[in-house]
Amino acid sequence: MTTKEKRDIFSRKHITPETAAYLGALTAPDEGYAAHVTAAMEKDGVRGLSVSAMEGRVLETFARLSCARKAVEIGTLYGYSAHWLARGLPDGSRLYTLEKDPACVNAAKDGVEASSLSRKITVMEGPAADSLKTLAKLAPFDLCFIDAAPDDAPAYLRWAAANLRPGGVVLAGGVFLAGAQGGGDGGAAEGATRAMREFFHILFDGDRFVSASVLPAGEGLAAGIRA
Ligand code: SAH
Ligand code: MG
Repeated sequence: MTTKEKRDIFSRKHITPETAAYLGALTAPDEGYAAHVTAAMEKDGVRGLSVSAMEGRVLETFARLSCARKAVEIGTLYGYSAHWLARGLPDGSRLYTLEKDPACVNAAKDGVEASSLSRKITVMEGPAADSLKTLAKLAPFDLCFIDAAPDDAPAYLRWAAANLRPGGVVLAGGVFLAGAQGGGDGGAAEGATRAMREFFHILFDGDRFVSASVLPAGEGLAAGIRA
């Protein structure tokens, strides 16, 4: 492997503006999925905090591949990523999505109801640490999507290691820390950078998870399979 290849593990040079525009046109109909949720986020100025439509599609893919019956999402916001995960989940399955902010919980519940997804999605209000304690009684889970505060990501990943079935999928969003991970100055707090290092140490140690990877989707999407 040449030094250049080592540095450019994502080969992002191939994502030219033309390629991005072309693929963007192919997935343009996705922008209309859960449009009432994106509209509510835009109105309240929080659209930038949720996954992109393409990242949502990747979440849907993982959900489908994992044949998940029981899934958990940490960090609901308005429920946009939950909508994508639910699209990949079969009938009779359930996604528990955890949110501490009461205003977000209300918005998410409204969005879920408007989509008639209450039969698949349960929004749980309160600190995720508390809800995860409750949910551990329902273990094992098939899929866990971590998308809350970076400082808490290592604890959530440990929960996933303890509560996913062997072969279960863990995903985590925002792992590039807006460019700060690995020493770039993206403005993320030092604590967040340290926490994400711990997170990656657990994900890549080969002990609790296998096939660990990071996709350059959205703000960095990490994935692993419970060993
Ligand atoms: N997954 C969402 C975006 C989540 S943004 C999407 O893509 O649509 C992160 C969310 O995590 C915020 O709404 C924030 O309130 C919530 N959050 C942060 N820390 C939390 C905690 N300790 N417990 C529960 N929710 C938390
Ligand atoms: Mg995000």
